[in-house]
Amino acid sequence: MSLSSDLKDRRLKAIPQGVGNLTSIFTQRADNAELWDVEGKRYVDFASGIAVLNTGHCNPKVMAAAKEQMDRFTHTCFHVAMYDKYVELAEKLNEITPGDHAKKSMLVSTGAEAVENAIKIARSYTGRPAVIAFNGAFHGRTLLGMGLTGKVTPYKKGFAPFPTELYHAPFPGGYRGCDIEEAIAGLEELFRSDIDPARVAAFIIEPVQGEGGFNPVPAEFMQALRKIADEHGILLICDEIQTGFARTGKMFATEYAGIIPDMMTLAKSLAGGFPLSAVVGRADVMDAVHPGGLGGTYAGFPPACAAALAAIEVIEEEKLCERAVALGDKIQGRFKAMAEAKFDCIGDVRGLGAMVAMELVKDRAAKTPDADLTKALLAEAEKRGLILLSCGTYGNVVRVLVPLTVSDAILEEGLNILEESLVAA
Ligand code: PLP
Repeated sequence: MSLSSDLKDRRLKAIPQGVGNLTSIFTQRADNAELWDVEGKRYVDFASGIAVLNTGHCNPKVMAAAKEQMDRFTHTCFHVAMYDKYVELAEKLNEITPGDHAKKSMLVSTGAEAVENAIKIARSYTGRPAVIAFNGAFHGRTLLGMGLTGKVTPYKKGFAPFPTELYHAPFPGGYRGCDIEEAIAGLEELFRSDIDPARVAAFIIEPVQGEGGFNPVPAEFMQALRKIADEHGILLICDEIQTGFARTGKMFATEYAGIIPDMMTLAKSLAGGFPLSAVVGRADVMDAVHPGGLGGTYAGFPPACAAALAAIEVIEEEKLCERAVALGDKIQGRFKAMAEAKFDCIGDVRGLGAMVAMELVKDRAAKTPDADLTKALLAEAEKRGLILLSCGTYGNVVRVLVPLTVSDAILEEGLNILEESLVAA
């Protein structure tokens, strides 16, 4: 029996099925945009650990910073004994996020925790209970995160009840969303029939929906939302957990709309492969919570803070925002050429910077999603040595989240495998 088969058998016995079983890859090591399994098979990585590795697997500068910190100490709990890297990272996040106003940052470990804390802060600041998210949104797997999430299966199925006072508004833009006017009318209708805006603490929105299908929100809607929030004293939270840290061609996707959110939630590529998340926001808003009201034992894990400072330096020094734009142009160009030349099954190609997706459809005119073909493509790609992910409400969106540090040669190799896999699927 091969090592992979042995591990697969043991996995099925030792780990519950709810911990998804999408892949048969058991990783041995990884470097930048390549990964090797325990059998020595090599893969091109177009997933980046789900948007975590904008600076690539085992980026030497990120690893060196984390190792240096690990040699000093790994954990004290900020509550017991604070440390320099937490302070330095908070200062850096306050500096690089949109807006020149006074900001403060707090650290936790996962994206869902960042979302939870942003909502706690919004409720403390406004004294209001309700939160409005958008159809198709994804905000994490805690009960509050699931409550804010739009898609039911697999994230929410069987887990109700969720916290109350959470509402969903129509999502504008893209291939399947409504238009901006309809989205604004939908919000007004929500205010008329379901929730008095004077009871709403916050809007939470992903500037590009990630799990929902890589749907960029039109800048005009972000601007309209900022205006509506201001009119009603509602806070605007931009969830940049998947879009942040140069992925979309700017440090943060919110910058495309030219608006300034009251808070942002950050995670994933923040620490280049280490678990770390943050809430960054207006100083007066962030200070609304009483001393001791925010925290968590592992919040701001010191090696992850050191890794984050190094990852941000790499993004700045290596101009990864510009690289993301170039990569995105190349990937979208290739997908569009494939759609025109020979693949009627490609329905829509979209994205922002290096957050690129294509929809697979049974009928392009009718936009009928083809989730089976998408699954077959992913399986075929894996066989041929390419790690690829899907997303979207109908499971038919093929998404590319290649490390921004990928070489042109490896990008080309991955795109070739993807095309060959689609022929074979
Ligand atoms: N918010 C967004 C936009 C995400 O994409 C994700 C994860 O995919 C989360 C929140 C939850 O992050 P985590 O899985 O780290 O809890």
